[in-house]
Amino acid sequence: MAATGKLHRADPHIVVLGAGPAGGAVALGLRRLGYRVSVVAEPRPFAALEGVSERVLAGLSQAGFANAVAAMPEPSPRQVTWNGETSGANTERLIRRVELDRAIGAELVAQGVKLIAGRVRSCRAQSLAQVQGDGGGEREGYSVEMQSGSAPPFMLEADFLVEARGRAAPGAGLERLRGPETVSLLQAWQGPAMAPRSAVQSFDAGWAWMAATADGQRYLQLTLDVASAALPPKEQLTEFCVKRLARLSQAQPFMQDARPLGQPHARTSTPILCREPVGNNWIRVGDAAMAVDPLSGNGIFQSLSSALQAPAVINTLLRHPERSAQARAFHQARVEHLFYRFARIGRDFYDMEQDCAAEPFWQARRAWPDTEAVHQSVTPAQVKIARRAVLNGDLIDEAEVVVTPDQPLGMWHLNGVALAPLLQACRDAPDAPEQALAKALGQHRARAGALLQWMRNGGWV
Ligand SMILES: Cc1cc2nc3c(=O)[nH]c(=O)nc-3n(C[C@H](O)[C@H](O)[C@H](O)COP(=O)(O)OP(=O)(O)OC[C@H]3O[C@@H](n4cnc5c(N)ncnc54)[C@H](O)[C@@H]3O)c2cc1C
Repeated sequence: MAATGKLHRADPHIVVLGAGPAGGAVALGLRRLGYRVSVVAEPRPFAALEGVSERVLAGLSQAGFANAVAAMPEPSPRQVTWNGETSGANTERLIRRVELDRAIGAELVAQGVKLIAGRVRSCRAQSLAQVQGDGGGEREGYSVEMQSGSAPPFMLEADFLVEARGRAAPGAGLERLRGPETVSLLQAWQGPAMAPRSAVQSFDAGWAWMAATADGQRYLQLTLDVASAALPPKEQLTEFCVKRLARLSQAQPFMQDARPLGQPHARTSTPILCREPVGNNWIRVGDAAMAVDPLSGNGIFQSLSSALQAPAVINTLLRHPERSAQARAFHQARVEHLFYRFARIGRDFYDMEQDCAAEPFWQARRAWPDTEAVHQSVTPAQVKIARRAVLNGDLIDEAEVVVTPDQPLGMWHLNGVALAPLLQACRDAPDAPEQALAKALGQHRARAGALLQWMRNGGWV
């Protein structure tokens, strides 16, 4: 579907930096809106296996990566030993990030996105020459310097820049909130074939994640506090990790008859929130906008969340500059909301580990980012109807939404039905709310009873 509305500049060129899930999702979304999109990416610098939930599959499908979803392995069992207790009720799909990148890249090319292999060296704001038909003169844009292998650097001009280089994205002088400084040491191992599975275990200095694929490859990862981990020099890191892992019961099946390969790869896993994730001709998405602790196992889901809303934000900035403040506020509020939600979920999970509560790793994380509950209780008096920025098709718009302490950004629709008029109908008829709801619902009147119950459960009425 092509976007409607008036472009204030002819055929803008949008350049996406990075082709992970976030960059890929934005690029596909923009292509669907008819934009000219180029993606610049270099291969991921190390092999990583990660565990993903069904939510990630739903996000990848929504973004248009059906082939990547079809190629996903089946869920495998995951055991968790936390605070001395073991449970094995969960599953996750163990994906090789390199394979996911390949599937994303193939889909981008198939959808007409120009995929350029290269390392981004710098991006500079610059006045660009107007193309013919734009009335001459100059326009604001960017000049992106890239390099591919040993070839000389080359330049690309962009009207709009999407920063999706993950945690590697430069800070660009923007204010960023950082959580407790955290590092994850990831090492590949090889052993005999075993059924795919994964495990998590907490210990005094942090927690470990272990995973095995059917071909006997294993990935063992320790997540530690940078300040208190007392990490040895690089050449002693393997020994350091093996010693720690040897003390963990969950690690034993993964280490048995197996050996570490090469050196551990250190990945920074400090939670980071970029306070200003969007301007009038640039936007940050995915980990470049906000990255949380890998404990949540939801990183890819979160990176897709901020990326899926970005095409509408960009479309609004380009076609309706008069609504730019609204569009920017929409993106910023959602990025921040998502960050705090997952940071608080992580905090509560860290707080469940009581045996090690006094250790520096746990002390810092059970108190961060604040003491606010993940979910706020709601009373009818706190529920308001207010105008807020909403995602309306391909654009950011404004509409009446229902705002509660638990949903500060507001709820606009539920299953395609606008909620604010329904709440108002209930309020106007306190003695017969179900009848009032049925009348307001019109052709959907059969849903009145269930909807009223849902509102009551949420503390709205
Ligand atoms: C230790 C650790 C464990 C994790 N485990 C999980 C897990 O189990 N499950 C989960 O869902 N999430 C996990 N995550 C989070 C997940 O990896 C990220 O949230 C997710 O990959 C973010 O997607 P993205 O598209 O924003 O960035 P990325 O996936 O990081 O993509 C960025 C892209 O930009 C490219 N790039 C970077 N710099 C340049 C440059 N200069 N020039 C050109 N290209 C460049 C990169 O090569 C890459 O292709 C983990 C994170 C960490 C740190």
